[in-house]
Amino acid sequence: MNILGGKQKIIRPVVPLRDGIVFPSTENVLIFGREKSLKVLDYLDKEKSDEVILLMQKKESIDDPKTEDLYSCGVLAKVVKKIRGERGEVNALLRGVLKVRVGKFISTDPIFIAEAEAVEDKAAEDKETEALIKLISNGLKKAINLGKAIDFNFLINILNVKSPLVFSYNVAMVLDISPKDRQGLLEVDDLKDRLKKELEFLNKELEILELEQKLAEQTRKKFEKGVKESFLREKKRLIEAELGEDTEGKEIEEYREKIKKAKMPKEVEKKAIKELKRLSKMSPFNPEASYIRTYLDWLIDLPWSKKDSSVFNIKKAKKILDQDHYALKKVKERIIEYIAVMKLKKEKEKLLKRSPEKKNSSKEYQPPTILCFVGPPGVGKTSLGRSIARALGRKFVKISLGGIRDEAEIRGHRRTYVGALPGRIIQGIKEAGTKNPVFMLDEIDKIGKDYRGDPSAALLEALDPEQNHSFSDHYLEVPFDLSDVFFITTANILDTIPPALLDRLEIIHFPGYTEDEKFQIIKRHLLSKQIKAHSLDDYQVKVSDKALHTIIRRYTREAGVRELERQIAALMRKAALRIVENNQKKISISVRDLSKYLGPYKYSEQMIEDKDNIGISTGLAWTQAGGDILFIEVAVMPGKGNLTLTGQLGDVMKESCQAALSYIRARWDIFNLKKDFFEKIDIHVHVPEGAVPKDGPSAGIAITTAMLSALVKIPVRRNVGMTGEITLRGRVLEIGGVKEKVIAAHRAGIKKVIMPKNNKKDLEDIPSYVLKDLKFVFVEHMDKIWKETLNLRAIPKKKIPKVVNGG
Ligand code: ADP
Repeated sequence: MNILGGKQKIIRPVVPLRDGIVFPSTENVLIFGREKSLKVLDYLDKEKSDEVILLMQKKESIDDPKTEDLYSCGVLAKVVKKIRGERGEVNALLRGVLKVRVGKFISTDPIFIAEAEAVEDKAAEDKETEALIKLISNGLKKAINLGKAIDFNFLINILNVKSPLVFSYNVAMVLDISPKDRQGLLEVDDLKDRLKKELEFLNKELEILELEQKLAEQTRKKFEKGVKESFLREKKRLIEAELGEDTEGKEIEEYREKIKKAKMPKEVEKKAIKELKRLSKMSPFNPEASYIRTYLDWLIDLPWSKKDSSVFNIKKAKKILDQDHYALKKVKERIIEYIAVMKLKKEKEKLLKRSPEKKNSSKEYQPPTILCFVGPPGVGKTSLGRSIARALGRKFVKISLGGIRDEAEIRGHRRTYVGALPGRIIQGIKEAGTKNPVFMLDEIDKIGKDYRGDPSAALLEALDPEQNHSFSDHYLEVPFDLSDVFFITTANILDTIPPALLDRLEIIHFPGYTEDEKFQIIKRHLLSKQIKAHSLDDYQVKVSDKALHTIIRRYTREAGVRELERQIAALMRKAALRIVENNQKKISISVRDLSKYLGPYKYSEQMIEDKDNIGISTGLAWTQAGGDILFIEVAVMPGKGNLTLTGQLGDVMKESCQAALSYIRARWDIFNLKKDFFEKIDIHVHVPEGAVPKDGPSAGIAITTAMLSALVKIPVRRNVGMTGEITLRGRVLEIGGVKEKVIAAHRAGIKKVIMPKNNKKDLEDIPSYVLKDLKFVFVEHMDKIWKETLNLRAIPKKKIPKVVNGG
């Protein structure tokens, strides 16, 4: 025997292996085909030896590996039997003897000869080892049941192995893993670790086997269903033939009739007839027949030439928009302008049709862009879309793009794909039933993109007036003309809309409503709508104006009216119940009744603090849900010059905090602070509602104010709201979302708003009754705002910062 334990050197020829391997105590047949390997066999004959060292190659693809291309851990193996094949290769049965690690190569030409040492595995035969072996054995049995390809007798042999070490090597041979992973298993020197790894591999394999079986089962069922259907169809055909009724022919005839009626464009009709011919020739057993039927149904159902006659009556449109919606003056104006342009376009087209020689002049005409309604939820984007459809006498459809990442959702799957359907655009058109509906693409800002293609590119094609007269859907295979569709998109924010799309959109902002507007919306629309929706009559329910104001203020806090509508609905539900229960004719609801119907107040009346505080300022924020106020809290404590920021602040907001601190440090003398004041303190900035992430630069002046207040110990005026970005030198820069912020400030009971000078222009859009309640201070520099923000009356004179005295 040649088993050389301990540290004795083993010098043997080396056979590099591409993928196959033999572990110690296992057997495997390997094919020796490469010249170097065959020379090893000659060498063995010459030396009257039968042992080789098997070393795996690091890369399978290398034909003539060098020593550095081989792993150093391998197996000393015995050539038990060899048979020469037809092409000179040798099939050799090898039995693994020992695990070895090669120290160095003694020769590399004509064959590798290496010097190696035996490696012994650490093998503790304890309960854990036993448990691992049991788990692996069970796993293997399960794998065989799920169709794993191992010889059953071989499995029995493995399961009967008594030595855990030998068991682990045998298992390593049967796992379905890559050569690299197999080498990995060989290199593990601790038995338990190897078993654990093996269990992991086996579990993965089981998962895949289970999935394969499930898929196979599904395919089988589908196939059986197809066969059954075809069988029944054939039977039906035979019965009908027996009875002298030819429904098959009848079906084809019916399709032909429907195709004619669908008034398709010529090429589409040609395609439909071609498919119909295929269908008529098809054996009823062919499962494809049902796919063709579905396809034909789609072609027939699409409104190829069905249009609502567009009425471009500006007066009527205005009336309808006003009827359905209160406020939104600017938005409505913009829409009316848009309709006017459409009317002109239509007239021009008519003219062109009559005198085609003028065709060239049409090139100058730029078709209108797509409208995009941007604003927080519940501000009436969708319902205005509906109104536009009503005003134009067209159908309305809406699809949501939120979360779409797959191009096929927009453009459909190719027909070869199982369960293929057209994309959402074509589905929407079918739903509308006309080729010129008002088509709302909701949540265009939530569209995604991944490896399945870019849905926004498909969307662009649908929206682009230059291309959309022949929009190609993968399923339809024939172009559909979308040029008559009135597309409207909606979004909550603009930032996430893909730029190429944004470029095509005409943005119309929906800024959110003031309390008064909300009140009017309830009075004129929502209340009566909800009364009817609950099968009541207007005269049966009276809600006092004061109660409505209270609902707005104490039960909702939003830019739109969605929650408000929900609250009114809840009120009506309860009212209906009372009317029925108490057999009442009618019911009146006043402020006092509200808690009975809607529960305790959800929001406090006064949103701002009830007294001026040191280190707390009121910022104005803009969120996806509209404007809001937010408090900035700053605490100063003894420390070592650390700035702590909490409240889930985004990077930009964190930078604002840094900038605020640097601005104050640079002006230490002006603020009566010590030069090194920051060395002995820590500053903590917190923005409450810590769970809500906040970001953006516009809190700059509010942060600076709160920080300064905390440092100089002068309270901030609680009824001053502020917004503005600051630079390191204290310049105040323009910000966005002014209308939403101002309305939120008004709602919160703020009296004075400080904002960047450059934002003065944005006040134009704000209703006058909001403006009249507020005082505005426009600033260019931080140095100018202390008088407005810090409550100087609350502190002794000598503490007042110099800059305030100086103006
Ligand atoms: P959005 O699409 O912006 O999320 P919706 O169009 O769904 O909002 O509006 C929510 C509800 O509020 C709808 O019932 C709508 O009719 C109503 N609504 C919103 N704004 C107005 C308004 N200005 N006048 C009348 N009703 C409105």
